[in-house]
Amino acid sequence: MFTGDAVLGRGTTVVNPPDGDLSAYLRSLRRMQDLHPRTIYPGHGPTVFDARAKLEEYVAHRAMREEQVIDAIGSGHRTIAEMVPAIYAEYPPELHELAGRQVLAQLMKLEREGRVAHTGPPERAAYELVVARDCERCGRPALPRSRFCGRCSLVVLQEGP
Ligand SMILES: [Zn+2]
Repeated sequence: MFTGDAVLGRGTTVVNPPDGDLSAYLRSLRRMQDLHPRTIYPGHGPTVFDARAKLEEYVAHRAMREEQVIDAIGSGHRTIAEMVPAIYAEYPPELHELAGRQVLAQLMKLEREGRVAHTGPPERAAYELVVARDCERCGRPALPRSRFCGRCSLVVLQEGP
């Protein structure tokens, strides 16, 4: 499988918003896994002879970063500038700006999934975790920032006030 820049021979791919979309990138990784390639010929770096292990490593790496972002917000690091030194402590400061773009990509994915929300201008937005709530009508998980689940939202809308 020829992966271009999506899977590299060494290191990890930079997903830089707005061109880089982490949700789409993860979907691409899953599609690559579904093809069960044996060998990866990346756009950069050495040939990867264990494609399966490399793809698993890539997916696990993003999952780890996502957990770190959620942990960082949970422990009070609310802006990207606060999150980056906590998450990328082992990287030199000159890489922190690019690391911040990776955190932004994670946050955009989490926000789209309704798991975090932000207030304030994008460049110094403060993020918070969205607390899961129960539907007021049936008790199933409510939609993000809604009092009702998907089904009950529809019913409430149809029945009117
Ligand atoms: Zn409901």
